[in-house]
Amino acid sequence: MELEINTKGKGLFLFLSSLSLVLMMMLTTLLWWFISPRLHEISNVLAFITLYSLRIFFAIIISGILLVILTCYTERNFLITKFAVRLSIIFLFPVAIILGKMFGIKKDKIRDSFVYVNNSFVKALKKKFKAKEVLILLPHCLQHVDCKIRITTNIQNCVNCGRCDIGDLKNLANKYKTHIAIATGGTLARRIIVNIRPKFIIAVACQRDLVDGIQDVFPIPVYGVLNDRPEGPCINTRVVVQKLELALQKVLIDLPNNI
Ligand code: SF4
Repeated sequence: MELEINTKGKGLFLFLSSLSLVLMMMLTTLLWWFISPRLHEISNVLAFITLYSLRIFFAIIISGILLVILTCYTERNFLITKFAVRLSIIFLFPVAIILGKMFGIKKDKIRDSFVYVNNSFVKALKKKFKAKEVLILLPHCLQHVDCKIRITTNIQNCVNCGRCDIGDLKNLANKYKTHIAIATGGTLARRIIVNIRPKFIIAVACQRDLVDGIQDVFPIPVYGVLNDRPEGPCINTRVVVQKLELALQKVLIDLPNNI
């Protein structure tokens, strides 16, 4: 069993992102080819400024994508890694989805890949946090479907019966003294984040919810852990609790004495 949170499988998102930038450069070059004679007619200075603005734009785009790739594969913090994160979250992901659609690639595959890229960025930032600054955010579908205990208001109500992973996750948060909460949807997740104001989030969810969450709470770093769905989506989902523990051990400054 792979315990390390997955940061492999980044290639698909990086390939689609690079391709989208190459296509954009080709389109702008074509546009330049069409309008440059007209610009020269109006003014040589205007044509010169447009051409050089285009070159600077291309240089920024090429450096941006190189930085994204370099950060992902080395997981090192470069001076402008934050720019790479912003570029990939705000701009590259939506374009990658459109391109993927054209090639018949399933959205969830691209989302998977995006989560791995995001996790590499989080690793690259190499920041450490106090336990009280960390929130473990869980989806409601982790709770066993037959469990009648109300854990959404307080996860401590769970009696650790062992039918689902909630009990172990609760124990994990208690052991490391981090916040832990269960969200039944995006609105509640946002409210929890506003109330707790975490500086780092470890989120468990399916591909779609993870991507939405990562984009929603940006610039708060989110380490995404995809849940397992042995009985299909949204019912009795599971997560390998040790993956979260490993992540906590890497990001916490104040580890308990017995670790
Ligand atoms: S472990 Fe907790 S949440 Fe899960 S079924 Fe048992 S009591 Fe309910």
